[in-house]
Amino acid sequence: MLAIEGGEPVRSSFLPYGKQCIDNSDIAAVAEVLQSDWLTTGPKVEEFERALTETCNATYAVAVNSGTAALHAAAYALGIGPGDEVIVPPITFVSSVSIIVHLGATPVFADVCPETLCIDPASVEKLLTKRTKAIVCVDFAGQPCNYDELRSFGLPIIQDGCHALGASYKGQAVGSLNELCTFSFHPVKNITTAEGGAILTSDENLARRARSFRNHGLSLDQRQRREKNTWAYEVHELGFNYRLSDIQSALGISQLGKLEEFLKKRRALAAYYDRALAGIDGVEPLSSLDGREHAYHLYVARFPRQKYSVDRDQLFRALRAEGIGVMVHYFPIHLQPFFEEKFGTKGGDCPVAELRSAEILTLPLFVQMNEKDVSDVVEALTKVCEFYRV
Ligand SMILES: *Cc1c(COP(=O)(O)O)cnc(C)c1O
Repeated sequence: MLAIEGGEPVRSSFLPYGKQCIDNSDIAAVAEVLQSDWLTTGPKVEEFERALTETCNATYAVAVNSGTAALHAAAYALGIGPGDEVIVPPITFVSSVSIIVHLGATPVFADVCPETLCIDPASVEKLLTKRTKAIVCVDFAGQPCNYDELRSFGLPIIQDGCHALGASYKGQAVGSLNELCTFSFHPVKNITTAEGGAILTSDENLARRARSFRNHGLSLDQRQRREKNTWAYEVHELGFNYRLSDIQSALGISQLGKLEEFLKKRRALAAYYDRALAGIDGVEPLSSLDGREHAYHLYVARFPRQKYSVDRDQLFRALRAEGIGVMVHYFPIHLQPFFEEKFGTKGGDCPVAELRSAEILTLPLFVQMNEKDVSDVVEALTKVCEFYRV
């Protein structure tokens, strides 16, 4: 009997969909900074930025205190402002879009590809106008978008790579593909600094603008003023306090050193799911396309509505009752009340996103998962899907 109906759950302890992987070397790296002179805006920030440019094969990295701050600084660096339109996908975290609104520009929602949930170049093409200033592309779940086609429009791309640290597109690392790429280091992401993010670019001017935006538009930061033996700074533009601390940067450096090992584990878990789910009718993993090396931040599967007597939310509740921490990534942003009210977006604007969003679940996937954990997920899926399948 299903746990939701009073039966025995597959797991007695809850398995979350994602979580950080911290070991003693991470703890030691943080402790070392706590005993040093610089808790923030010191040498560890620069060291972390250098490590990120090496990992991503980009020229510049600007570390900030969240993925959202990274997106905000990237859009600011491009000069996005009132009167501009920016094309965005609806299947993403809200901040890929909210930063456009914060800068006074208008988000224009393009639909997504049904197989990958990445922004659909054909839909983007239909929405281009004289006002279109940039395209936000989200590498959904960790799989890069179709950049050959997206770049053919000749517009700057803000690549939201928050899922995709470690991924690559036709052999080129995410972070070096487009004008700007952003990462998040939230605990569920591929590496963590607790809270944190970064902007990667190979354009010196964009890097300079993002760096200024991170620190109130000040011409010199605290460390530079000390080195130059001056108290003075100039403000030519305004910014925010989006600085990442040295404590967080030390954690980031330590975590980044383990990225390859983390990716290997994530890819092995994804391959296990691929094999196991092929044997369950009514569970269809998203496609992973040729020429794109997936970073598997998320493992997302589709549960086609017509295969079941109940909707996705009932499958969600039943799997949660079995102890499996499934999630939904994401509800379409253009259907959130704020966007409907402010921009007049509505159901039918992005039909693929709307249909797919109601059929997907994210399965648990994180570095410390063991064989028993993944087999529990498969057992619970088998149990729940069989019960509700028509
Ligand atoms: C996590 C995430 C963000 C926001 O990152 P924070 O560090 O939480 O601010 C933005 N976009 C996507 C696609 C994300 O997954």
